[in-house]
Amino acid sequence: MIVILKPDTLPDGPEVAGVLREVERFPGLSARLCEAPQGTSRRLVEIYLVGPTQGIPEATFAELPCVERVVRVSQKYRLLGRHAAALASVGFEESGVRFDQDTLHVFAGLCAVDTPAHVEQTMAALGRLGLRTTRMGAYKPRTSPYDFQGLGFQCLPWVLDSAGKHGVRVIAMEVTHEAHLEEIRAARARTGAPVGIMVQIGTRNAQNFELLKAVGQQRDFPVLVKRGMGITLEESLNACEYVASEGNRNIVFCLRGVKTHLGDPHRNFVDFSHVPVVHRLTRMPVCVDPSHSVGRRDRGPDGLLEIFHATAQGVIAGANMILVDVHPAPAAALCDGPQALTLDELPRLIDDVAAVREAYEKRRALAGHPVPPEALGIQRV
Ligand code: PEP
Ligand code: MN
Repeated sequence: MIVILKPDTLPDGPEVAGVLREVERFPGLSARLCEAPQGTSRRLVEIYLVGPTQGIPEATFAELPCVERVVRVSQKYRLLGRHAAALASVGFEESGVRFDQDTLHVFAGLCAVDTPAHVEQTMAALGRLGLRTTRMGAYKPRTSPYDFQGLGFQCLPWVLDSAGKHGVRVIAMEVTHEAHLEEIRAARARTGAPVGIMVQIGTRNAQNFELLKAVGQQRDFPVLVKRGMGITLEESLNACEYVASEGNRNIVFCLRGVKTHLGDPHRNFVDFSHVPVVHRLTRMPVCVDPSHSVGRRDRGPDGLLEIFHATAQGVIAGANMILVDVHPAPAAALCDGPQALTLDELPRLIDDVAAVREAYEKRRALAGHPVPPEALGIQRV
């Protein structure tokens, strides 16, 4: 059961205390407070009631003066599910950057961090385009134990410094072990760079339940959960629910294609038609990763890279984030060079995404649900 309070009710005010007193009357029932800011001007507080709620009449809470609505949730996606059309999307802000089901961010960057010069060139290119978000892989899960596994914590100081220097505010970075969280925390404290890290759970760890719980138990970093490559969408969304159930609801779900030879010649079968499905089933922002889906830099006779086309499929369907590999010298990349865009191709991708986003915004207006003014276009500085 979700108790939605009237807008601008203060989470630490007497009204909330009144609701919590009511909760205490029911044995086994506990309450979890969640603040879901709507845009920037309204504060929205929701109280999740966990435990035996079946026998509790909705009126118990609905009749309290500060309560706007009570929503009964199904067992599925208890915390992240949409349940009722009126429920707000679960948005959050990280380092001054807003993520929700309306905004759009491009996270272009290195699949695997290799040299300080490549990081610096990439960050400088992002800075020139006014982009505030990137991806930088320090901990790489690789199929072969003999492949490059990433530079790990050693590269964090110069990655963070370079991001800070070029105005990049949020970095998506995969973690493969909970110990990496502490390494990132320590590096950030040492460099003092005002940069947020969105920790990424890779497709291979989509059912690593202990890792999911570990990223859910901390609040320092939002979490990007990638779809498991060989499991159902429902199983992957449950991975997000694992994170949320431990307390961290700052989650973005990422489609990255699924593994089947029916997707050949692409690396994975592109699944971006699931963007609106995830929007409908849950309240999370949705990311698409065209690089790991397509896996190659082939160009069509229309002059567009297939990675651009796949990106466009996600954006036209309302994607909120794009995770895309770029590299100053793809041939020299230590991981996934064949799918990395060059830094010259990046401005072209951004122009292409902007054109497609405009078409999506027109479609939203035609459907009577316009994108709010603060979320129009690609979010830049
Ligand atoms: C990545 O984004 O670097 C990555 C390894 O992706 P995935 O987990 O989707 O294969
Ligand atoms: Mn990769």
